[in-house]
Amino acid sequence: MSRTLQFTEQLIACRSVTPDDGGCQALISERLKALGFTCETLVSGPEEFRVTNLWALRRGSLGTDGVLLAFAGHTDVVPTGPLAQWKSDPFVPTHRDGRLYGRGAADMKTSLAAMVVAIEEFVAAHPQHAGSIALMITSDEEGPANDGTVRLVERLQQLGERIDCCVVGEPTSVDQLGDVVKNGRRGSLSGRLTIKGVQGHIAYPQLACNPIHQAAPALAELVAIEWDRGNEYFPPTSWQVSNIHAGTGAGNVIPGELVVDFNFRFSTESTPASLKQRLHAVLDRHGLEYDLAWTLGGEPFLTPVGSLSKALSQAIQAETDRTTQLSTTGGTSDGRFIARICPQVIEFGPINATIHKIDEHVLVSDIEPLKNIYRRTMENLLL
Ligand SMILES: [Zn+2]
Repeated sequence: MSRTLQFTEQLIACRSVTPDDGGCQALISERLKALGFTCETLVSGPEEFRVTNLWALRRGSLGTDGVLLAFAGHTDVVPTGPLAQWKSDPFVPTHRDGRLYGRGAADMKTSLAAMVVAIEEFVAAHPQHAGSIALMITSDEEGPANDGTVRLVERLQQLGERIDCCVVGEPTSVDQLGDVVKNGRRGSLSGRLTIKGVQGHIAYPQLACNPIHQAAPALAELVAIEWDRGNEYFPPTSWQVSNIHAGTGAGNVIPGELVVDFNFRFSTESTPASLKQRLHAVLDRHGLEYDLAWTLGGEPFLTPVGSLSKALSQAIQAETDRTTQLSTTGGTSDGRFIARICPQVIEFGPINATIHKIDEHVLVSDIEPLKNIYRRTMENLLL
């Protein structure tokens, strides 16, 4: 059994449902300390939601000069769902048909094991490497993400630590290992709009004010707006209504208010401020009386083609003979926090088809190549 597979199984066996780390980070730092890493554990969050974070750093032979390459990820996993539906215990790593089953197999314990073993191999072969290597691990990525990577980033800002390149081990591959990496993510901005009317008898509309009728032309205009055209890396910003509700249930009553929930998935061509301002302008122009509560789910981030994307694409090509595709699709990720202190953030990991599902798994034959791609990326950047 390969060292990467062995370590992946060890991590899967740790029960680490968000925000519990389940002992994963102790296993990781034990191995990194043996390589000369300094490890700092940062516990954060309220008592009922304790998050464990790890920052591990190995300075290269040039001290603080040279590139600092960080690997980032999370030890927490989502809940298993109904145990009876799993073909094997989600916390007992199990092999069937060339696949390794277990909660976190794809998201993202295989990536963590691959990163650690890749670092071990790289340091053993090149103890005098240039630059520095770091690991940034949290146990709160799948949860609210308030006390995880965001706290690590604040800590590094305090320390004045800069990261030049960061590889996040999120499962980005779609059909084959290495076919897709993420060089950015769209932002997410939600709103709850309450349009106010005056309730009344449906036979006496002159005595009421129908918020559905008030809202309809404004909503039609919002649906038709081109918010931006996206750019080379991002699709155009999209505005979608997720819920709409008005009405008392009775057929003879004009309701008093209408509630609309909506969400922007936005590109780097728009900002939360510009989107808010444009949406308010439409509502105001239609003379609506309303309340609007905003929630910013995440800022977008973008890593243009550069040294990191080239190092990673070249590593994927060399290991798998595949030409990788840069993508910014999907939901938000911790990359958005890391981008605050790091100009180049790219996500790359195993096939994501079964993440968060019953019978989550990875292909055993992808595990060594994944580790080799991480190692080759270090070779490309730190030698
Ligand atoms: Zn993940």
